[in-house]
Amino acid sequence: MPFSHGLAAALAGILGLLIGSFLNVVIHRLPLMLERQWATDCSGGDTAEPEVEKAFNLMTPRSRCPDCGHLIRWHENIPVLSYVFLRGRCASCRVRISPRYPAVELATAALFAWCVWRAPGQAGALAWCGFSAALLTLALIDWDTTLLPDDITLPLLWAGLLAAATSVTHVTLQSSVWGAASGYVSLWSVYWLFKLATGKEGMGYGDFKLFAAFGAWFGWQALVPIILMASLIGVVVGLALKLTNRLRDGGYIPFGPFLAGAGFTAMLFGPEVILRTVGL
Ligand SMILES: [Zn+2]
Repeated sequence: MPFSHGLAAALAGILGLLIGSFLNVVIHRLPLMLERQWATDCSGGDTAEPEVEKAFNLMTPRSRCPDCGHLIRWHENIPVLSYVFLRGRCASCRVRISPRYPAVELATAALFAWCVWRAPGQAGALAWCGFSAALLTLALIDWDTTLLPDDITLPLLWAGLLAAATSVTHVTLQSSVWGAASGYVSLWSVYWLFKLATGKEGMGYGDFKLFAAFGAWFGWQALVPIILMASLIGVVVGLALKLTNRLRDGGYIPFGPFLAGAGFTAMLFGPEVILRTVGL
């Protein structure tokens, strides 16, 4: 039934807008929450400033304009629409709001609609929506802070194993488990070889965990296509940044966003298409 099929995808898109709005909060706050946690752990918990004691999590405090402190009201917080009506500026001080906020909302909406369109009414649709949300969040946190938090990579890995065990994804449990293990070990080995040879760190442990999660979601057979795609995206983006003089100090670019890009490619087109794209 194409009508109900389209309706389901449209509803998933609207849900995606709302979830995307929440992902913006996670992307902004989770690294700050981890930083506070580390600061408290390092100080032994007894020298914490009173300011650090204040509740700071994904729910509190309510969002404010970072420039003027204006409390963002509910009608200024409607995904995409508020951004359009406010013409991308704070309602109080008119400072520009990053277009990344509506972009994340629209991207989540498109991914959710696509997942439901492909497998309406199936548990797989829900699973891949969750996969998309986690991957988008990881990519942007890594881009901003060069961190891939365990709070997201590890549940993503477990979810992939469970999805295979319950036949929600079309990967055998055996392929999923071997994928997770070899995903981790392969990048871990590359990391140490690179470190021993050059004394530099080309990746972080978060990259191994994310790659292990891909092994769990797509099976071990997908690992080579995914790493090739990630490298290809990395080269293209790296060159683009270099040519436009937008490389950061030291020239370091986190690898997680490229891995995430390859993960999305595998989800949307299948790992086989990646191999054909790179000419194998
Ligand atoms: Zn403001």
